[in-house]
Amino acid sequence: MQLRIEDILPEGIEIEVRLDPDDPAFRELGLKGPVTGSFHIKKMGPQILVRGNVQALVALKCARCLADFDAPISEEVNIEMRPAMEMERFGHDIELGADDLDVEFFRGDVLDLGHLVAEQIALALPMKPLCREDCSGICSRCGADRALGPCQCEPPMEDSRWEALSELRDRLKKKRD
Ligand SMILES: [Zn+2]
Ligand SMILES: [Zn+2]
Repeated sequence: MQLRIEDILPEGIEIEVRLDPDDPAFRELGLKGPVTGSFHIKKMGPQILVRGNVQALVALKCARCLADFDAPISEEVNIEMRPAMEMERFGHDIELGADDLDVEFFRGDVLDLGHLVAEQIALALPMKPLCREDCSGICSRCGADRALGPCQCEPPMEDSRWEALSELRDRLKKKRD
């Protein structure tokens, strides 16, 4: 979804987006439905301010128990778009925008809103998704789902490894003595 910069009115424009999950921009994101959002887009000299929000439902895998689950994503968008020429001329050391603004770059005379939205959703994805805040995960030894109750693997593997290690240490010590 592209917006021609010349179509942005002096007072700014309001845009409602509803993007197809099959859009190539979203291929990596595991979307479970359309992405929706609303933006207020305004020119500020050569810069363009994009403010608003995006919502999507994404398919995630729990980092602890590996269960698949869907999570709603809702992200505020506050971006200052700058002409890419500016970055090419000044390198990466150009001054950053106000605290609450992300700075991105655009090239030519169109804004690619689909790409912008995909990036915002990617940033909003949790680094360590959990199906529940208190998910107890699966046992690293037998693979049992600990949410269903304790398994037969007590004590945990870490402990027995330490035991083997300290036995080895004791043996080495004896040899030396
Ligand atoms: Zn889980
Ligand atoms: Zn176990």
